[in-house]
Amino acid sequence: MPEGDTVWNTARVLQRALAGTRLTGSDFRVPQLAVTDLTGWTVRESASRGKHLLLRLTAPDGHPDGGRDWTLHSHLRMDGAWRAYAPGERWAARPAHLIRAVLRSPGAVAVGYHLHELALIPTAAEESLVGHLGPDLLGPDWDPDEAVRRLVAHPDESIGEALLDQRNLAGVGNLYKCEVLFLRGVSPWTPVGAVPDLAGTVALAQRLLAANRGRWTQSTTGSLHRGQTSYVYGRRAQPCRRCGTAIRKAEQGERVTYWCPACQPDRP
Ligand SMILES: [Zn+2]
Repeated sequence: MPEGDTVWNTARVLQRALAGTRLTGSDFRVPQLAVTDLTGWTVRESASRGKHLLLRLTAPDGHPDGGRDWTLHSHLRMDGAWRAYAPGERWAARPAHLIRAVLRSPGAVAVGYHLHELALIPTAAEESLVGHLGPDLLGPDWDPDEAVRRLVAHPDESIGEALLDQRNLAGVGNLYKCEVLFLRGVSPWTPVGAVPDLAGTVALAQRLLAANRGRWTQSTTGSLHRGQTSYVYGRRAQPCRRCGTAIRKAEQGERVTYWCPACQPDRP
């Protein structure tokens, strides 16, 4: 599942494949970019902000958009992915009908699958897409105090929903939400204002995401073995790794949450 660390990794894949190169071709399979051709455009850099991917490009001289800085924005949501292939390598990551974008450079081909919110915007307008986000847990400007300040501004909201709200802090998805709250012994239904150590909770979320940077298997337990990578996430009815109580799963807001009713008591 794409969470902040996955998006960070994806930005790095695109950075390594494309940054500093001049594109030799592009193919967009979405209506809004059907006539867009980025051939000759230079890729300046690839960045992530929360779960948003920002591929920054410069249009070639002589182009109607020439000399201006542009950003190709994409969002992975639940199912999107970018993969980089060597020229001539078979595109094997996903079925071809999921391809939404293809960017070719002299040394690599980047293929975007099931991308959402694909848009080409002036770089100067990036804030219109990501300006509402809270501090990015994996960003160079990560600011835990600001994240806590935004969380406590809505003290009655459940901590489970508040951690997923990207306006509070950007990068936590459902897996890390469930795991952080288990590790802190906090029920997902606890109101934000009643969480004992909000700063500690935010700090742990940042550490877990940062620890998973650079690899695709997400683990909060320290184990990379299949079936052992989480404490509660995806483990409904299985015994808690700490106390043996059956892990529970329930809807919370628009998402599901997993928790141990013994280690994380006090559901209202
Ligand atoms: Zn337990």
